[in-house]
Amino acid sequence: MSDYVKSLMAEVKAKNPAEPEFHQAVEEVVESLDLVLERHPEYRAAKIIERIVEPERVILFRVPWIDDQGEVQVNRGFRIEMNSAIGPYKGGLRFHPSVNLGILKFLAFEQVFKNSLTTLPMGGGKGGSDFDPKGKSDNEVMSSCQSFMTELIRHIGADTDVPAGDIGVGGREIGFLFGQYKRIRNEFTGVLTGKGLNWGGSLIRPEATGYGAVYFASEMLSTRNETLEDKICLVSGSGNVAQYTVEKIIEFGGKVVTLSDSNGYIYDEEGINTEKLEFVKELKNIRRGRIREYADEYKSAVFTPVDANLKYNPLWNHKGCCAFPSATQNEINESDANNLIKNGICVVSEGANMPTTAEGVKVFLDKGILYGPGKAANAGGVAVSGLEMTQNSMRMPWTREEVDARLHHIMKSIHQTCVDNADRFGTPGNYVNGANIGGFLKVADAMLDQGVV
Ligand code: NDP
Repeated sequence: MSDYVKSLMAEVKAKNPAEPEFHQAVEEVVESLDLVLERHPEYRAAKIIERIVEPERVILFRVPWIDDQGEVQVNRGFRIEMNSAIGPYKGGLRFHPSVNLGILKFLAFEQVFKNSLTTLPMGGGKGGSDFDPKGKSDNEVMSSCQSFMTELIRHIGADTDVPAGDIGVGGREIGFLFGQYKRIRNEFTGVLTGKGLNWGGSLIRPEATGYGAVYFASEMLSTRNETLEDKICLVSGSGNVAQYTVEKIIEFGGKVVTLSDSNGYIYDEEGINTEKLEFVKELKNIRRGRIREYADEYKSAVFTPVDANLKYNPLWNHKGCCAFPSATQNEINESDANNLIKNGICVVSEGANMPTTAEGVKVFLDKGILYGPGKAANAGGVAVSGLEMTQNSMRMPWTREEVDARLHHIMKSIHQTCVDNADRFGTPGNYVNGANIGGFLKVADAMLDQGVV
């Protein structure tokens, strides 16, 4: 780490205390950018990095709502408008009790580079609330979403800031948020993505992040003349990203043996086939049940509950060639990374955002694993969100085949950008440097062009 990066990190930590995830995300990026700054003193002179780590705007607000018992509940709402150099702010909303300013700043920061990599004109943002949709009735979720949007509406717009879903915000929540936006503004516009198909949504948007992570894995494998066919795959999570990751792996001939939620994970040695995946979709998206019920339904599966005393996650300690972490941040630590390697892992494609700790990433890079960081591997979701915005502006939907072909093309192009920039800056095969540098250059040049703003 250069002296410049050390002093920059010291300043970031001093200015943003108690935000470890934000520090982690910034440190990973600026370490890669050290390679760029040597060749491009103009970025340092214009203080591009000092500016890029500072959100353009942070909005924090009260979200009061009334539960089914008539009690007033109070949550906290956020929107981080991180960077608009290359387009309107774009990034999801997360509803989860763990949501805080530091987590959303890390996500918004990652989003800036990810959105740039997609080749589409989108800036970076992220938002959400510490509201927990788990165990809430539809009525309670609607009440909370309406209250959240009543404030958020002042800050967003189709050409300003376009939120989407993330953990805890799926089709149901986007519907309630959109309904309230439309009611207050009296306009039908593409202000949110992930909308329902018959009211402005795009085909393939629900599938996009998972499909994209598998396309990215497949591109990485192709650099070693390999495919996903017959490979054993470990997938974590069981929400939107995990479900469509499994769907595409099955299509590509791989065998998925794990899924999880915050209570534990299932290991199904026979593999999760299409019928079992339909069960998971119904369980998670309609009945809103727990993954342990999978093991009640299928006797080939074993459920292991979370053990808070363990220093590693047993899900990552099964034989497998491919890992698709698709739940949440920091779910693979150094021990997990070592366990994966011991069990024969060859490729890691991150569906989740920053699911691997800095120590875990180092293990993967040192061992020469094909390691696709989230900002590249899971960019398919926001890419199709960008395509949803295009279709909304044209007021004309594309077919499933057309959107999927564009998604596939974008994932290939992100992969190539990573490979090219890793090569160009002297670290061939390092997708972390490739993604960080590739994402940065476009935003940095736009910031230079637009002056000190
Ligand atoms: P969902 O809410 O649909 O699913 C999240 C899954 O992860 C659930 O199975 C959930 O279990 C589990 N999970 C969440 N938090 C934790 C935790 N703290 N510990 C253990 N398990 C947890 O979210 P998505 O599938 O949309 O998102 C998953 C990841 O992918 C996130 O990191 C998100 O930022 C990232 N991502 C999502 C995109 C999208 O298009 N949706 C785009 C790009 C990235 P439980 O139900 O028990 O909470």
